[in-house]
Amino acid sequence: MPSNEDIKQILIKNEVLLDGHFLLTSGRHSRFYFEKFRVLQQPSDAALFCQNIAEHFQGTDIDTVAGPTTGGIIIAFEVAREMGKKAVYAERTSEGRGFLRGMSLAKGEKVLVVDDVMTTGGSVLETIEAVKRAGAELKGVAVFIDRSAEKPDFGAPFFSLYHEKVETFDSENCPLCKEGIPLAKHGSSSKK
Ligand SMILES: [Zn+2]
Repeated sequence: MPSNEDIKQILIKNEVLLDGHFLLTSGRHSRFYFEKFRVLQQPSDAALFCQNIAEHFQGTDIDTVAGPTTGGIIIAFEVAREMGKKAVYAERTSEGRGFLRGMSLAKGEKVLVVDDVMTTGGSVLETIEAVKRAGAELKGVAVFIDRSAEKPDFGAPFFSLYHEKVETFDSENCPLCKEGIPLAKHGSSSKK
């Protein structure tokens, strides 16, 4: 299993994790920025990450892997392929997320929920709600990158390949501004 540092090197190599001085959509400044979709640009690295998720949950009784659109589709597909299980994809609906296009979960079906980058956990939580609405059972949650400030509690085992709480600064007290490092605007691609 690769270490947090091994994963970090892959993320830097693939320009998923950018080091500089960034203006975030929140208006705050940060030294790091995640260009999250780039994590799926190198299929062999993404497949390696999926393989690690599959290995981590090898001993857990799972029938199905579920992921939210858009990045979660690829991850659910690949983790399920590794585990020899079924995959379903949770799409946005008028009431959170749901399993459309004839995809369904049976009552009591044991589900692992996966996603690419978790910041607030919104997409993951919506997928968990869709799993529970179907009467299926949540057996675990896994993401490539966990950026959440606090350890999440989904009521099931949680696994992330890479965890980094990114420090942010308000523009008045930003050490990078004080150093005179040019500020780059980012964040337009973070919505899915
Ligand atoms: Zn700054």
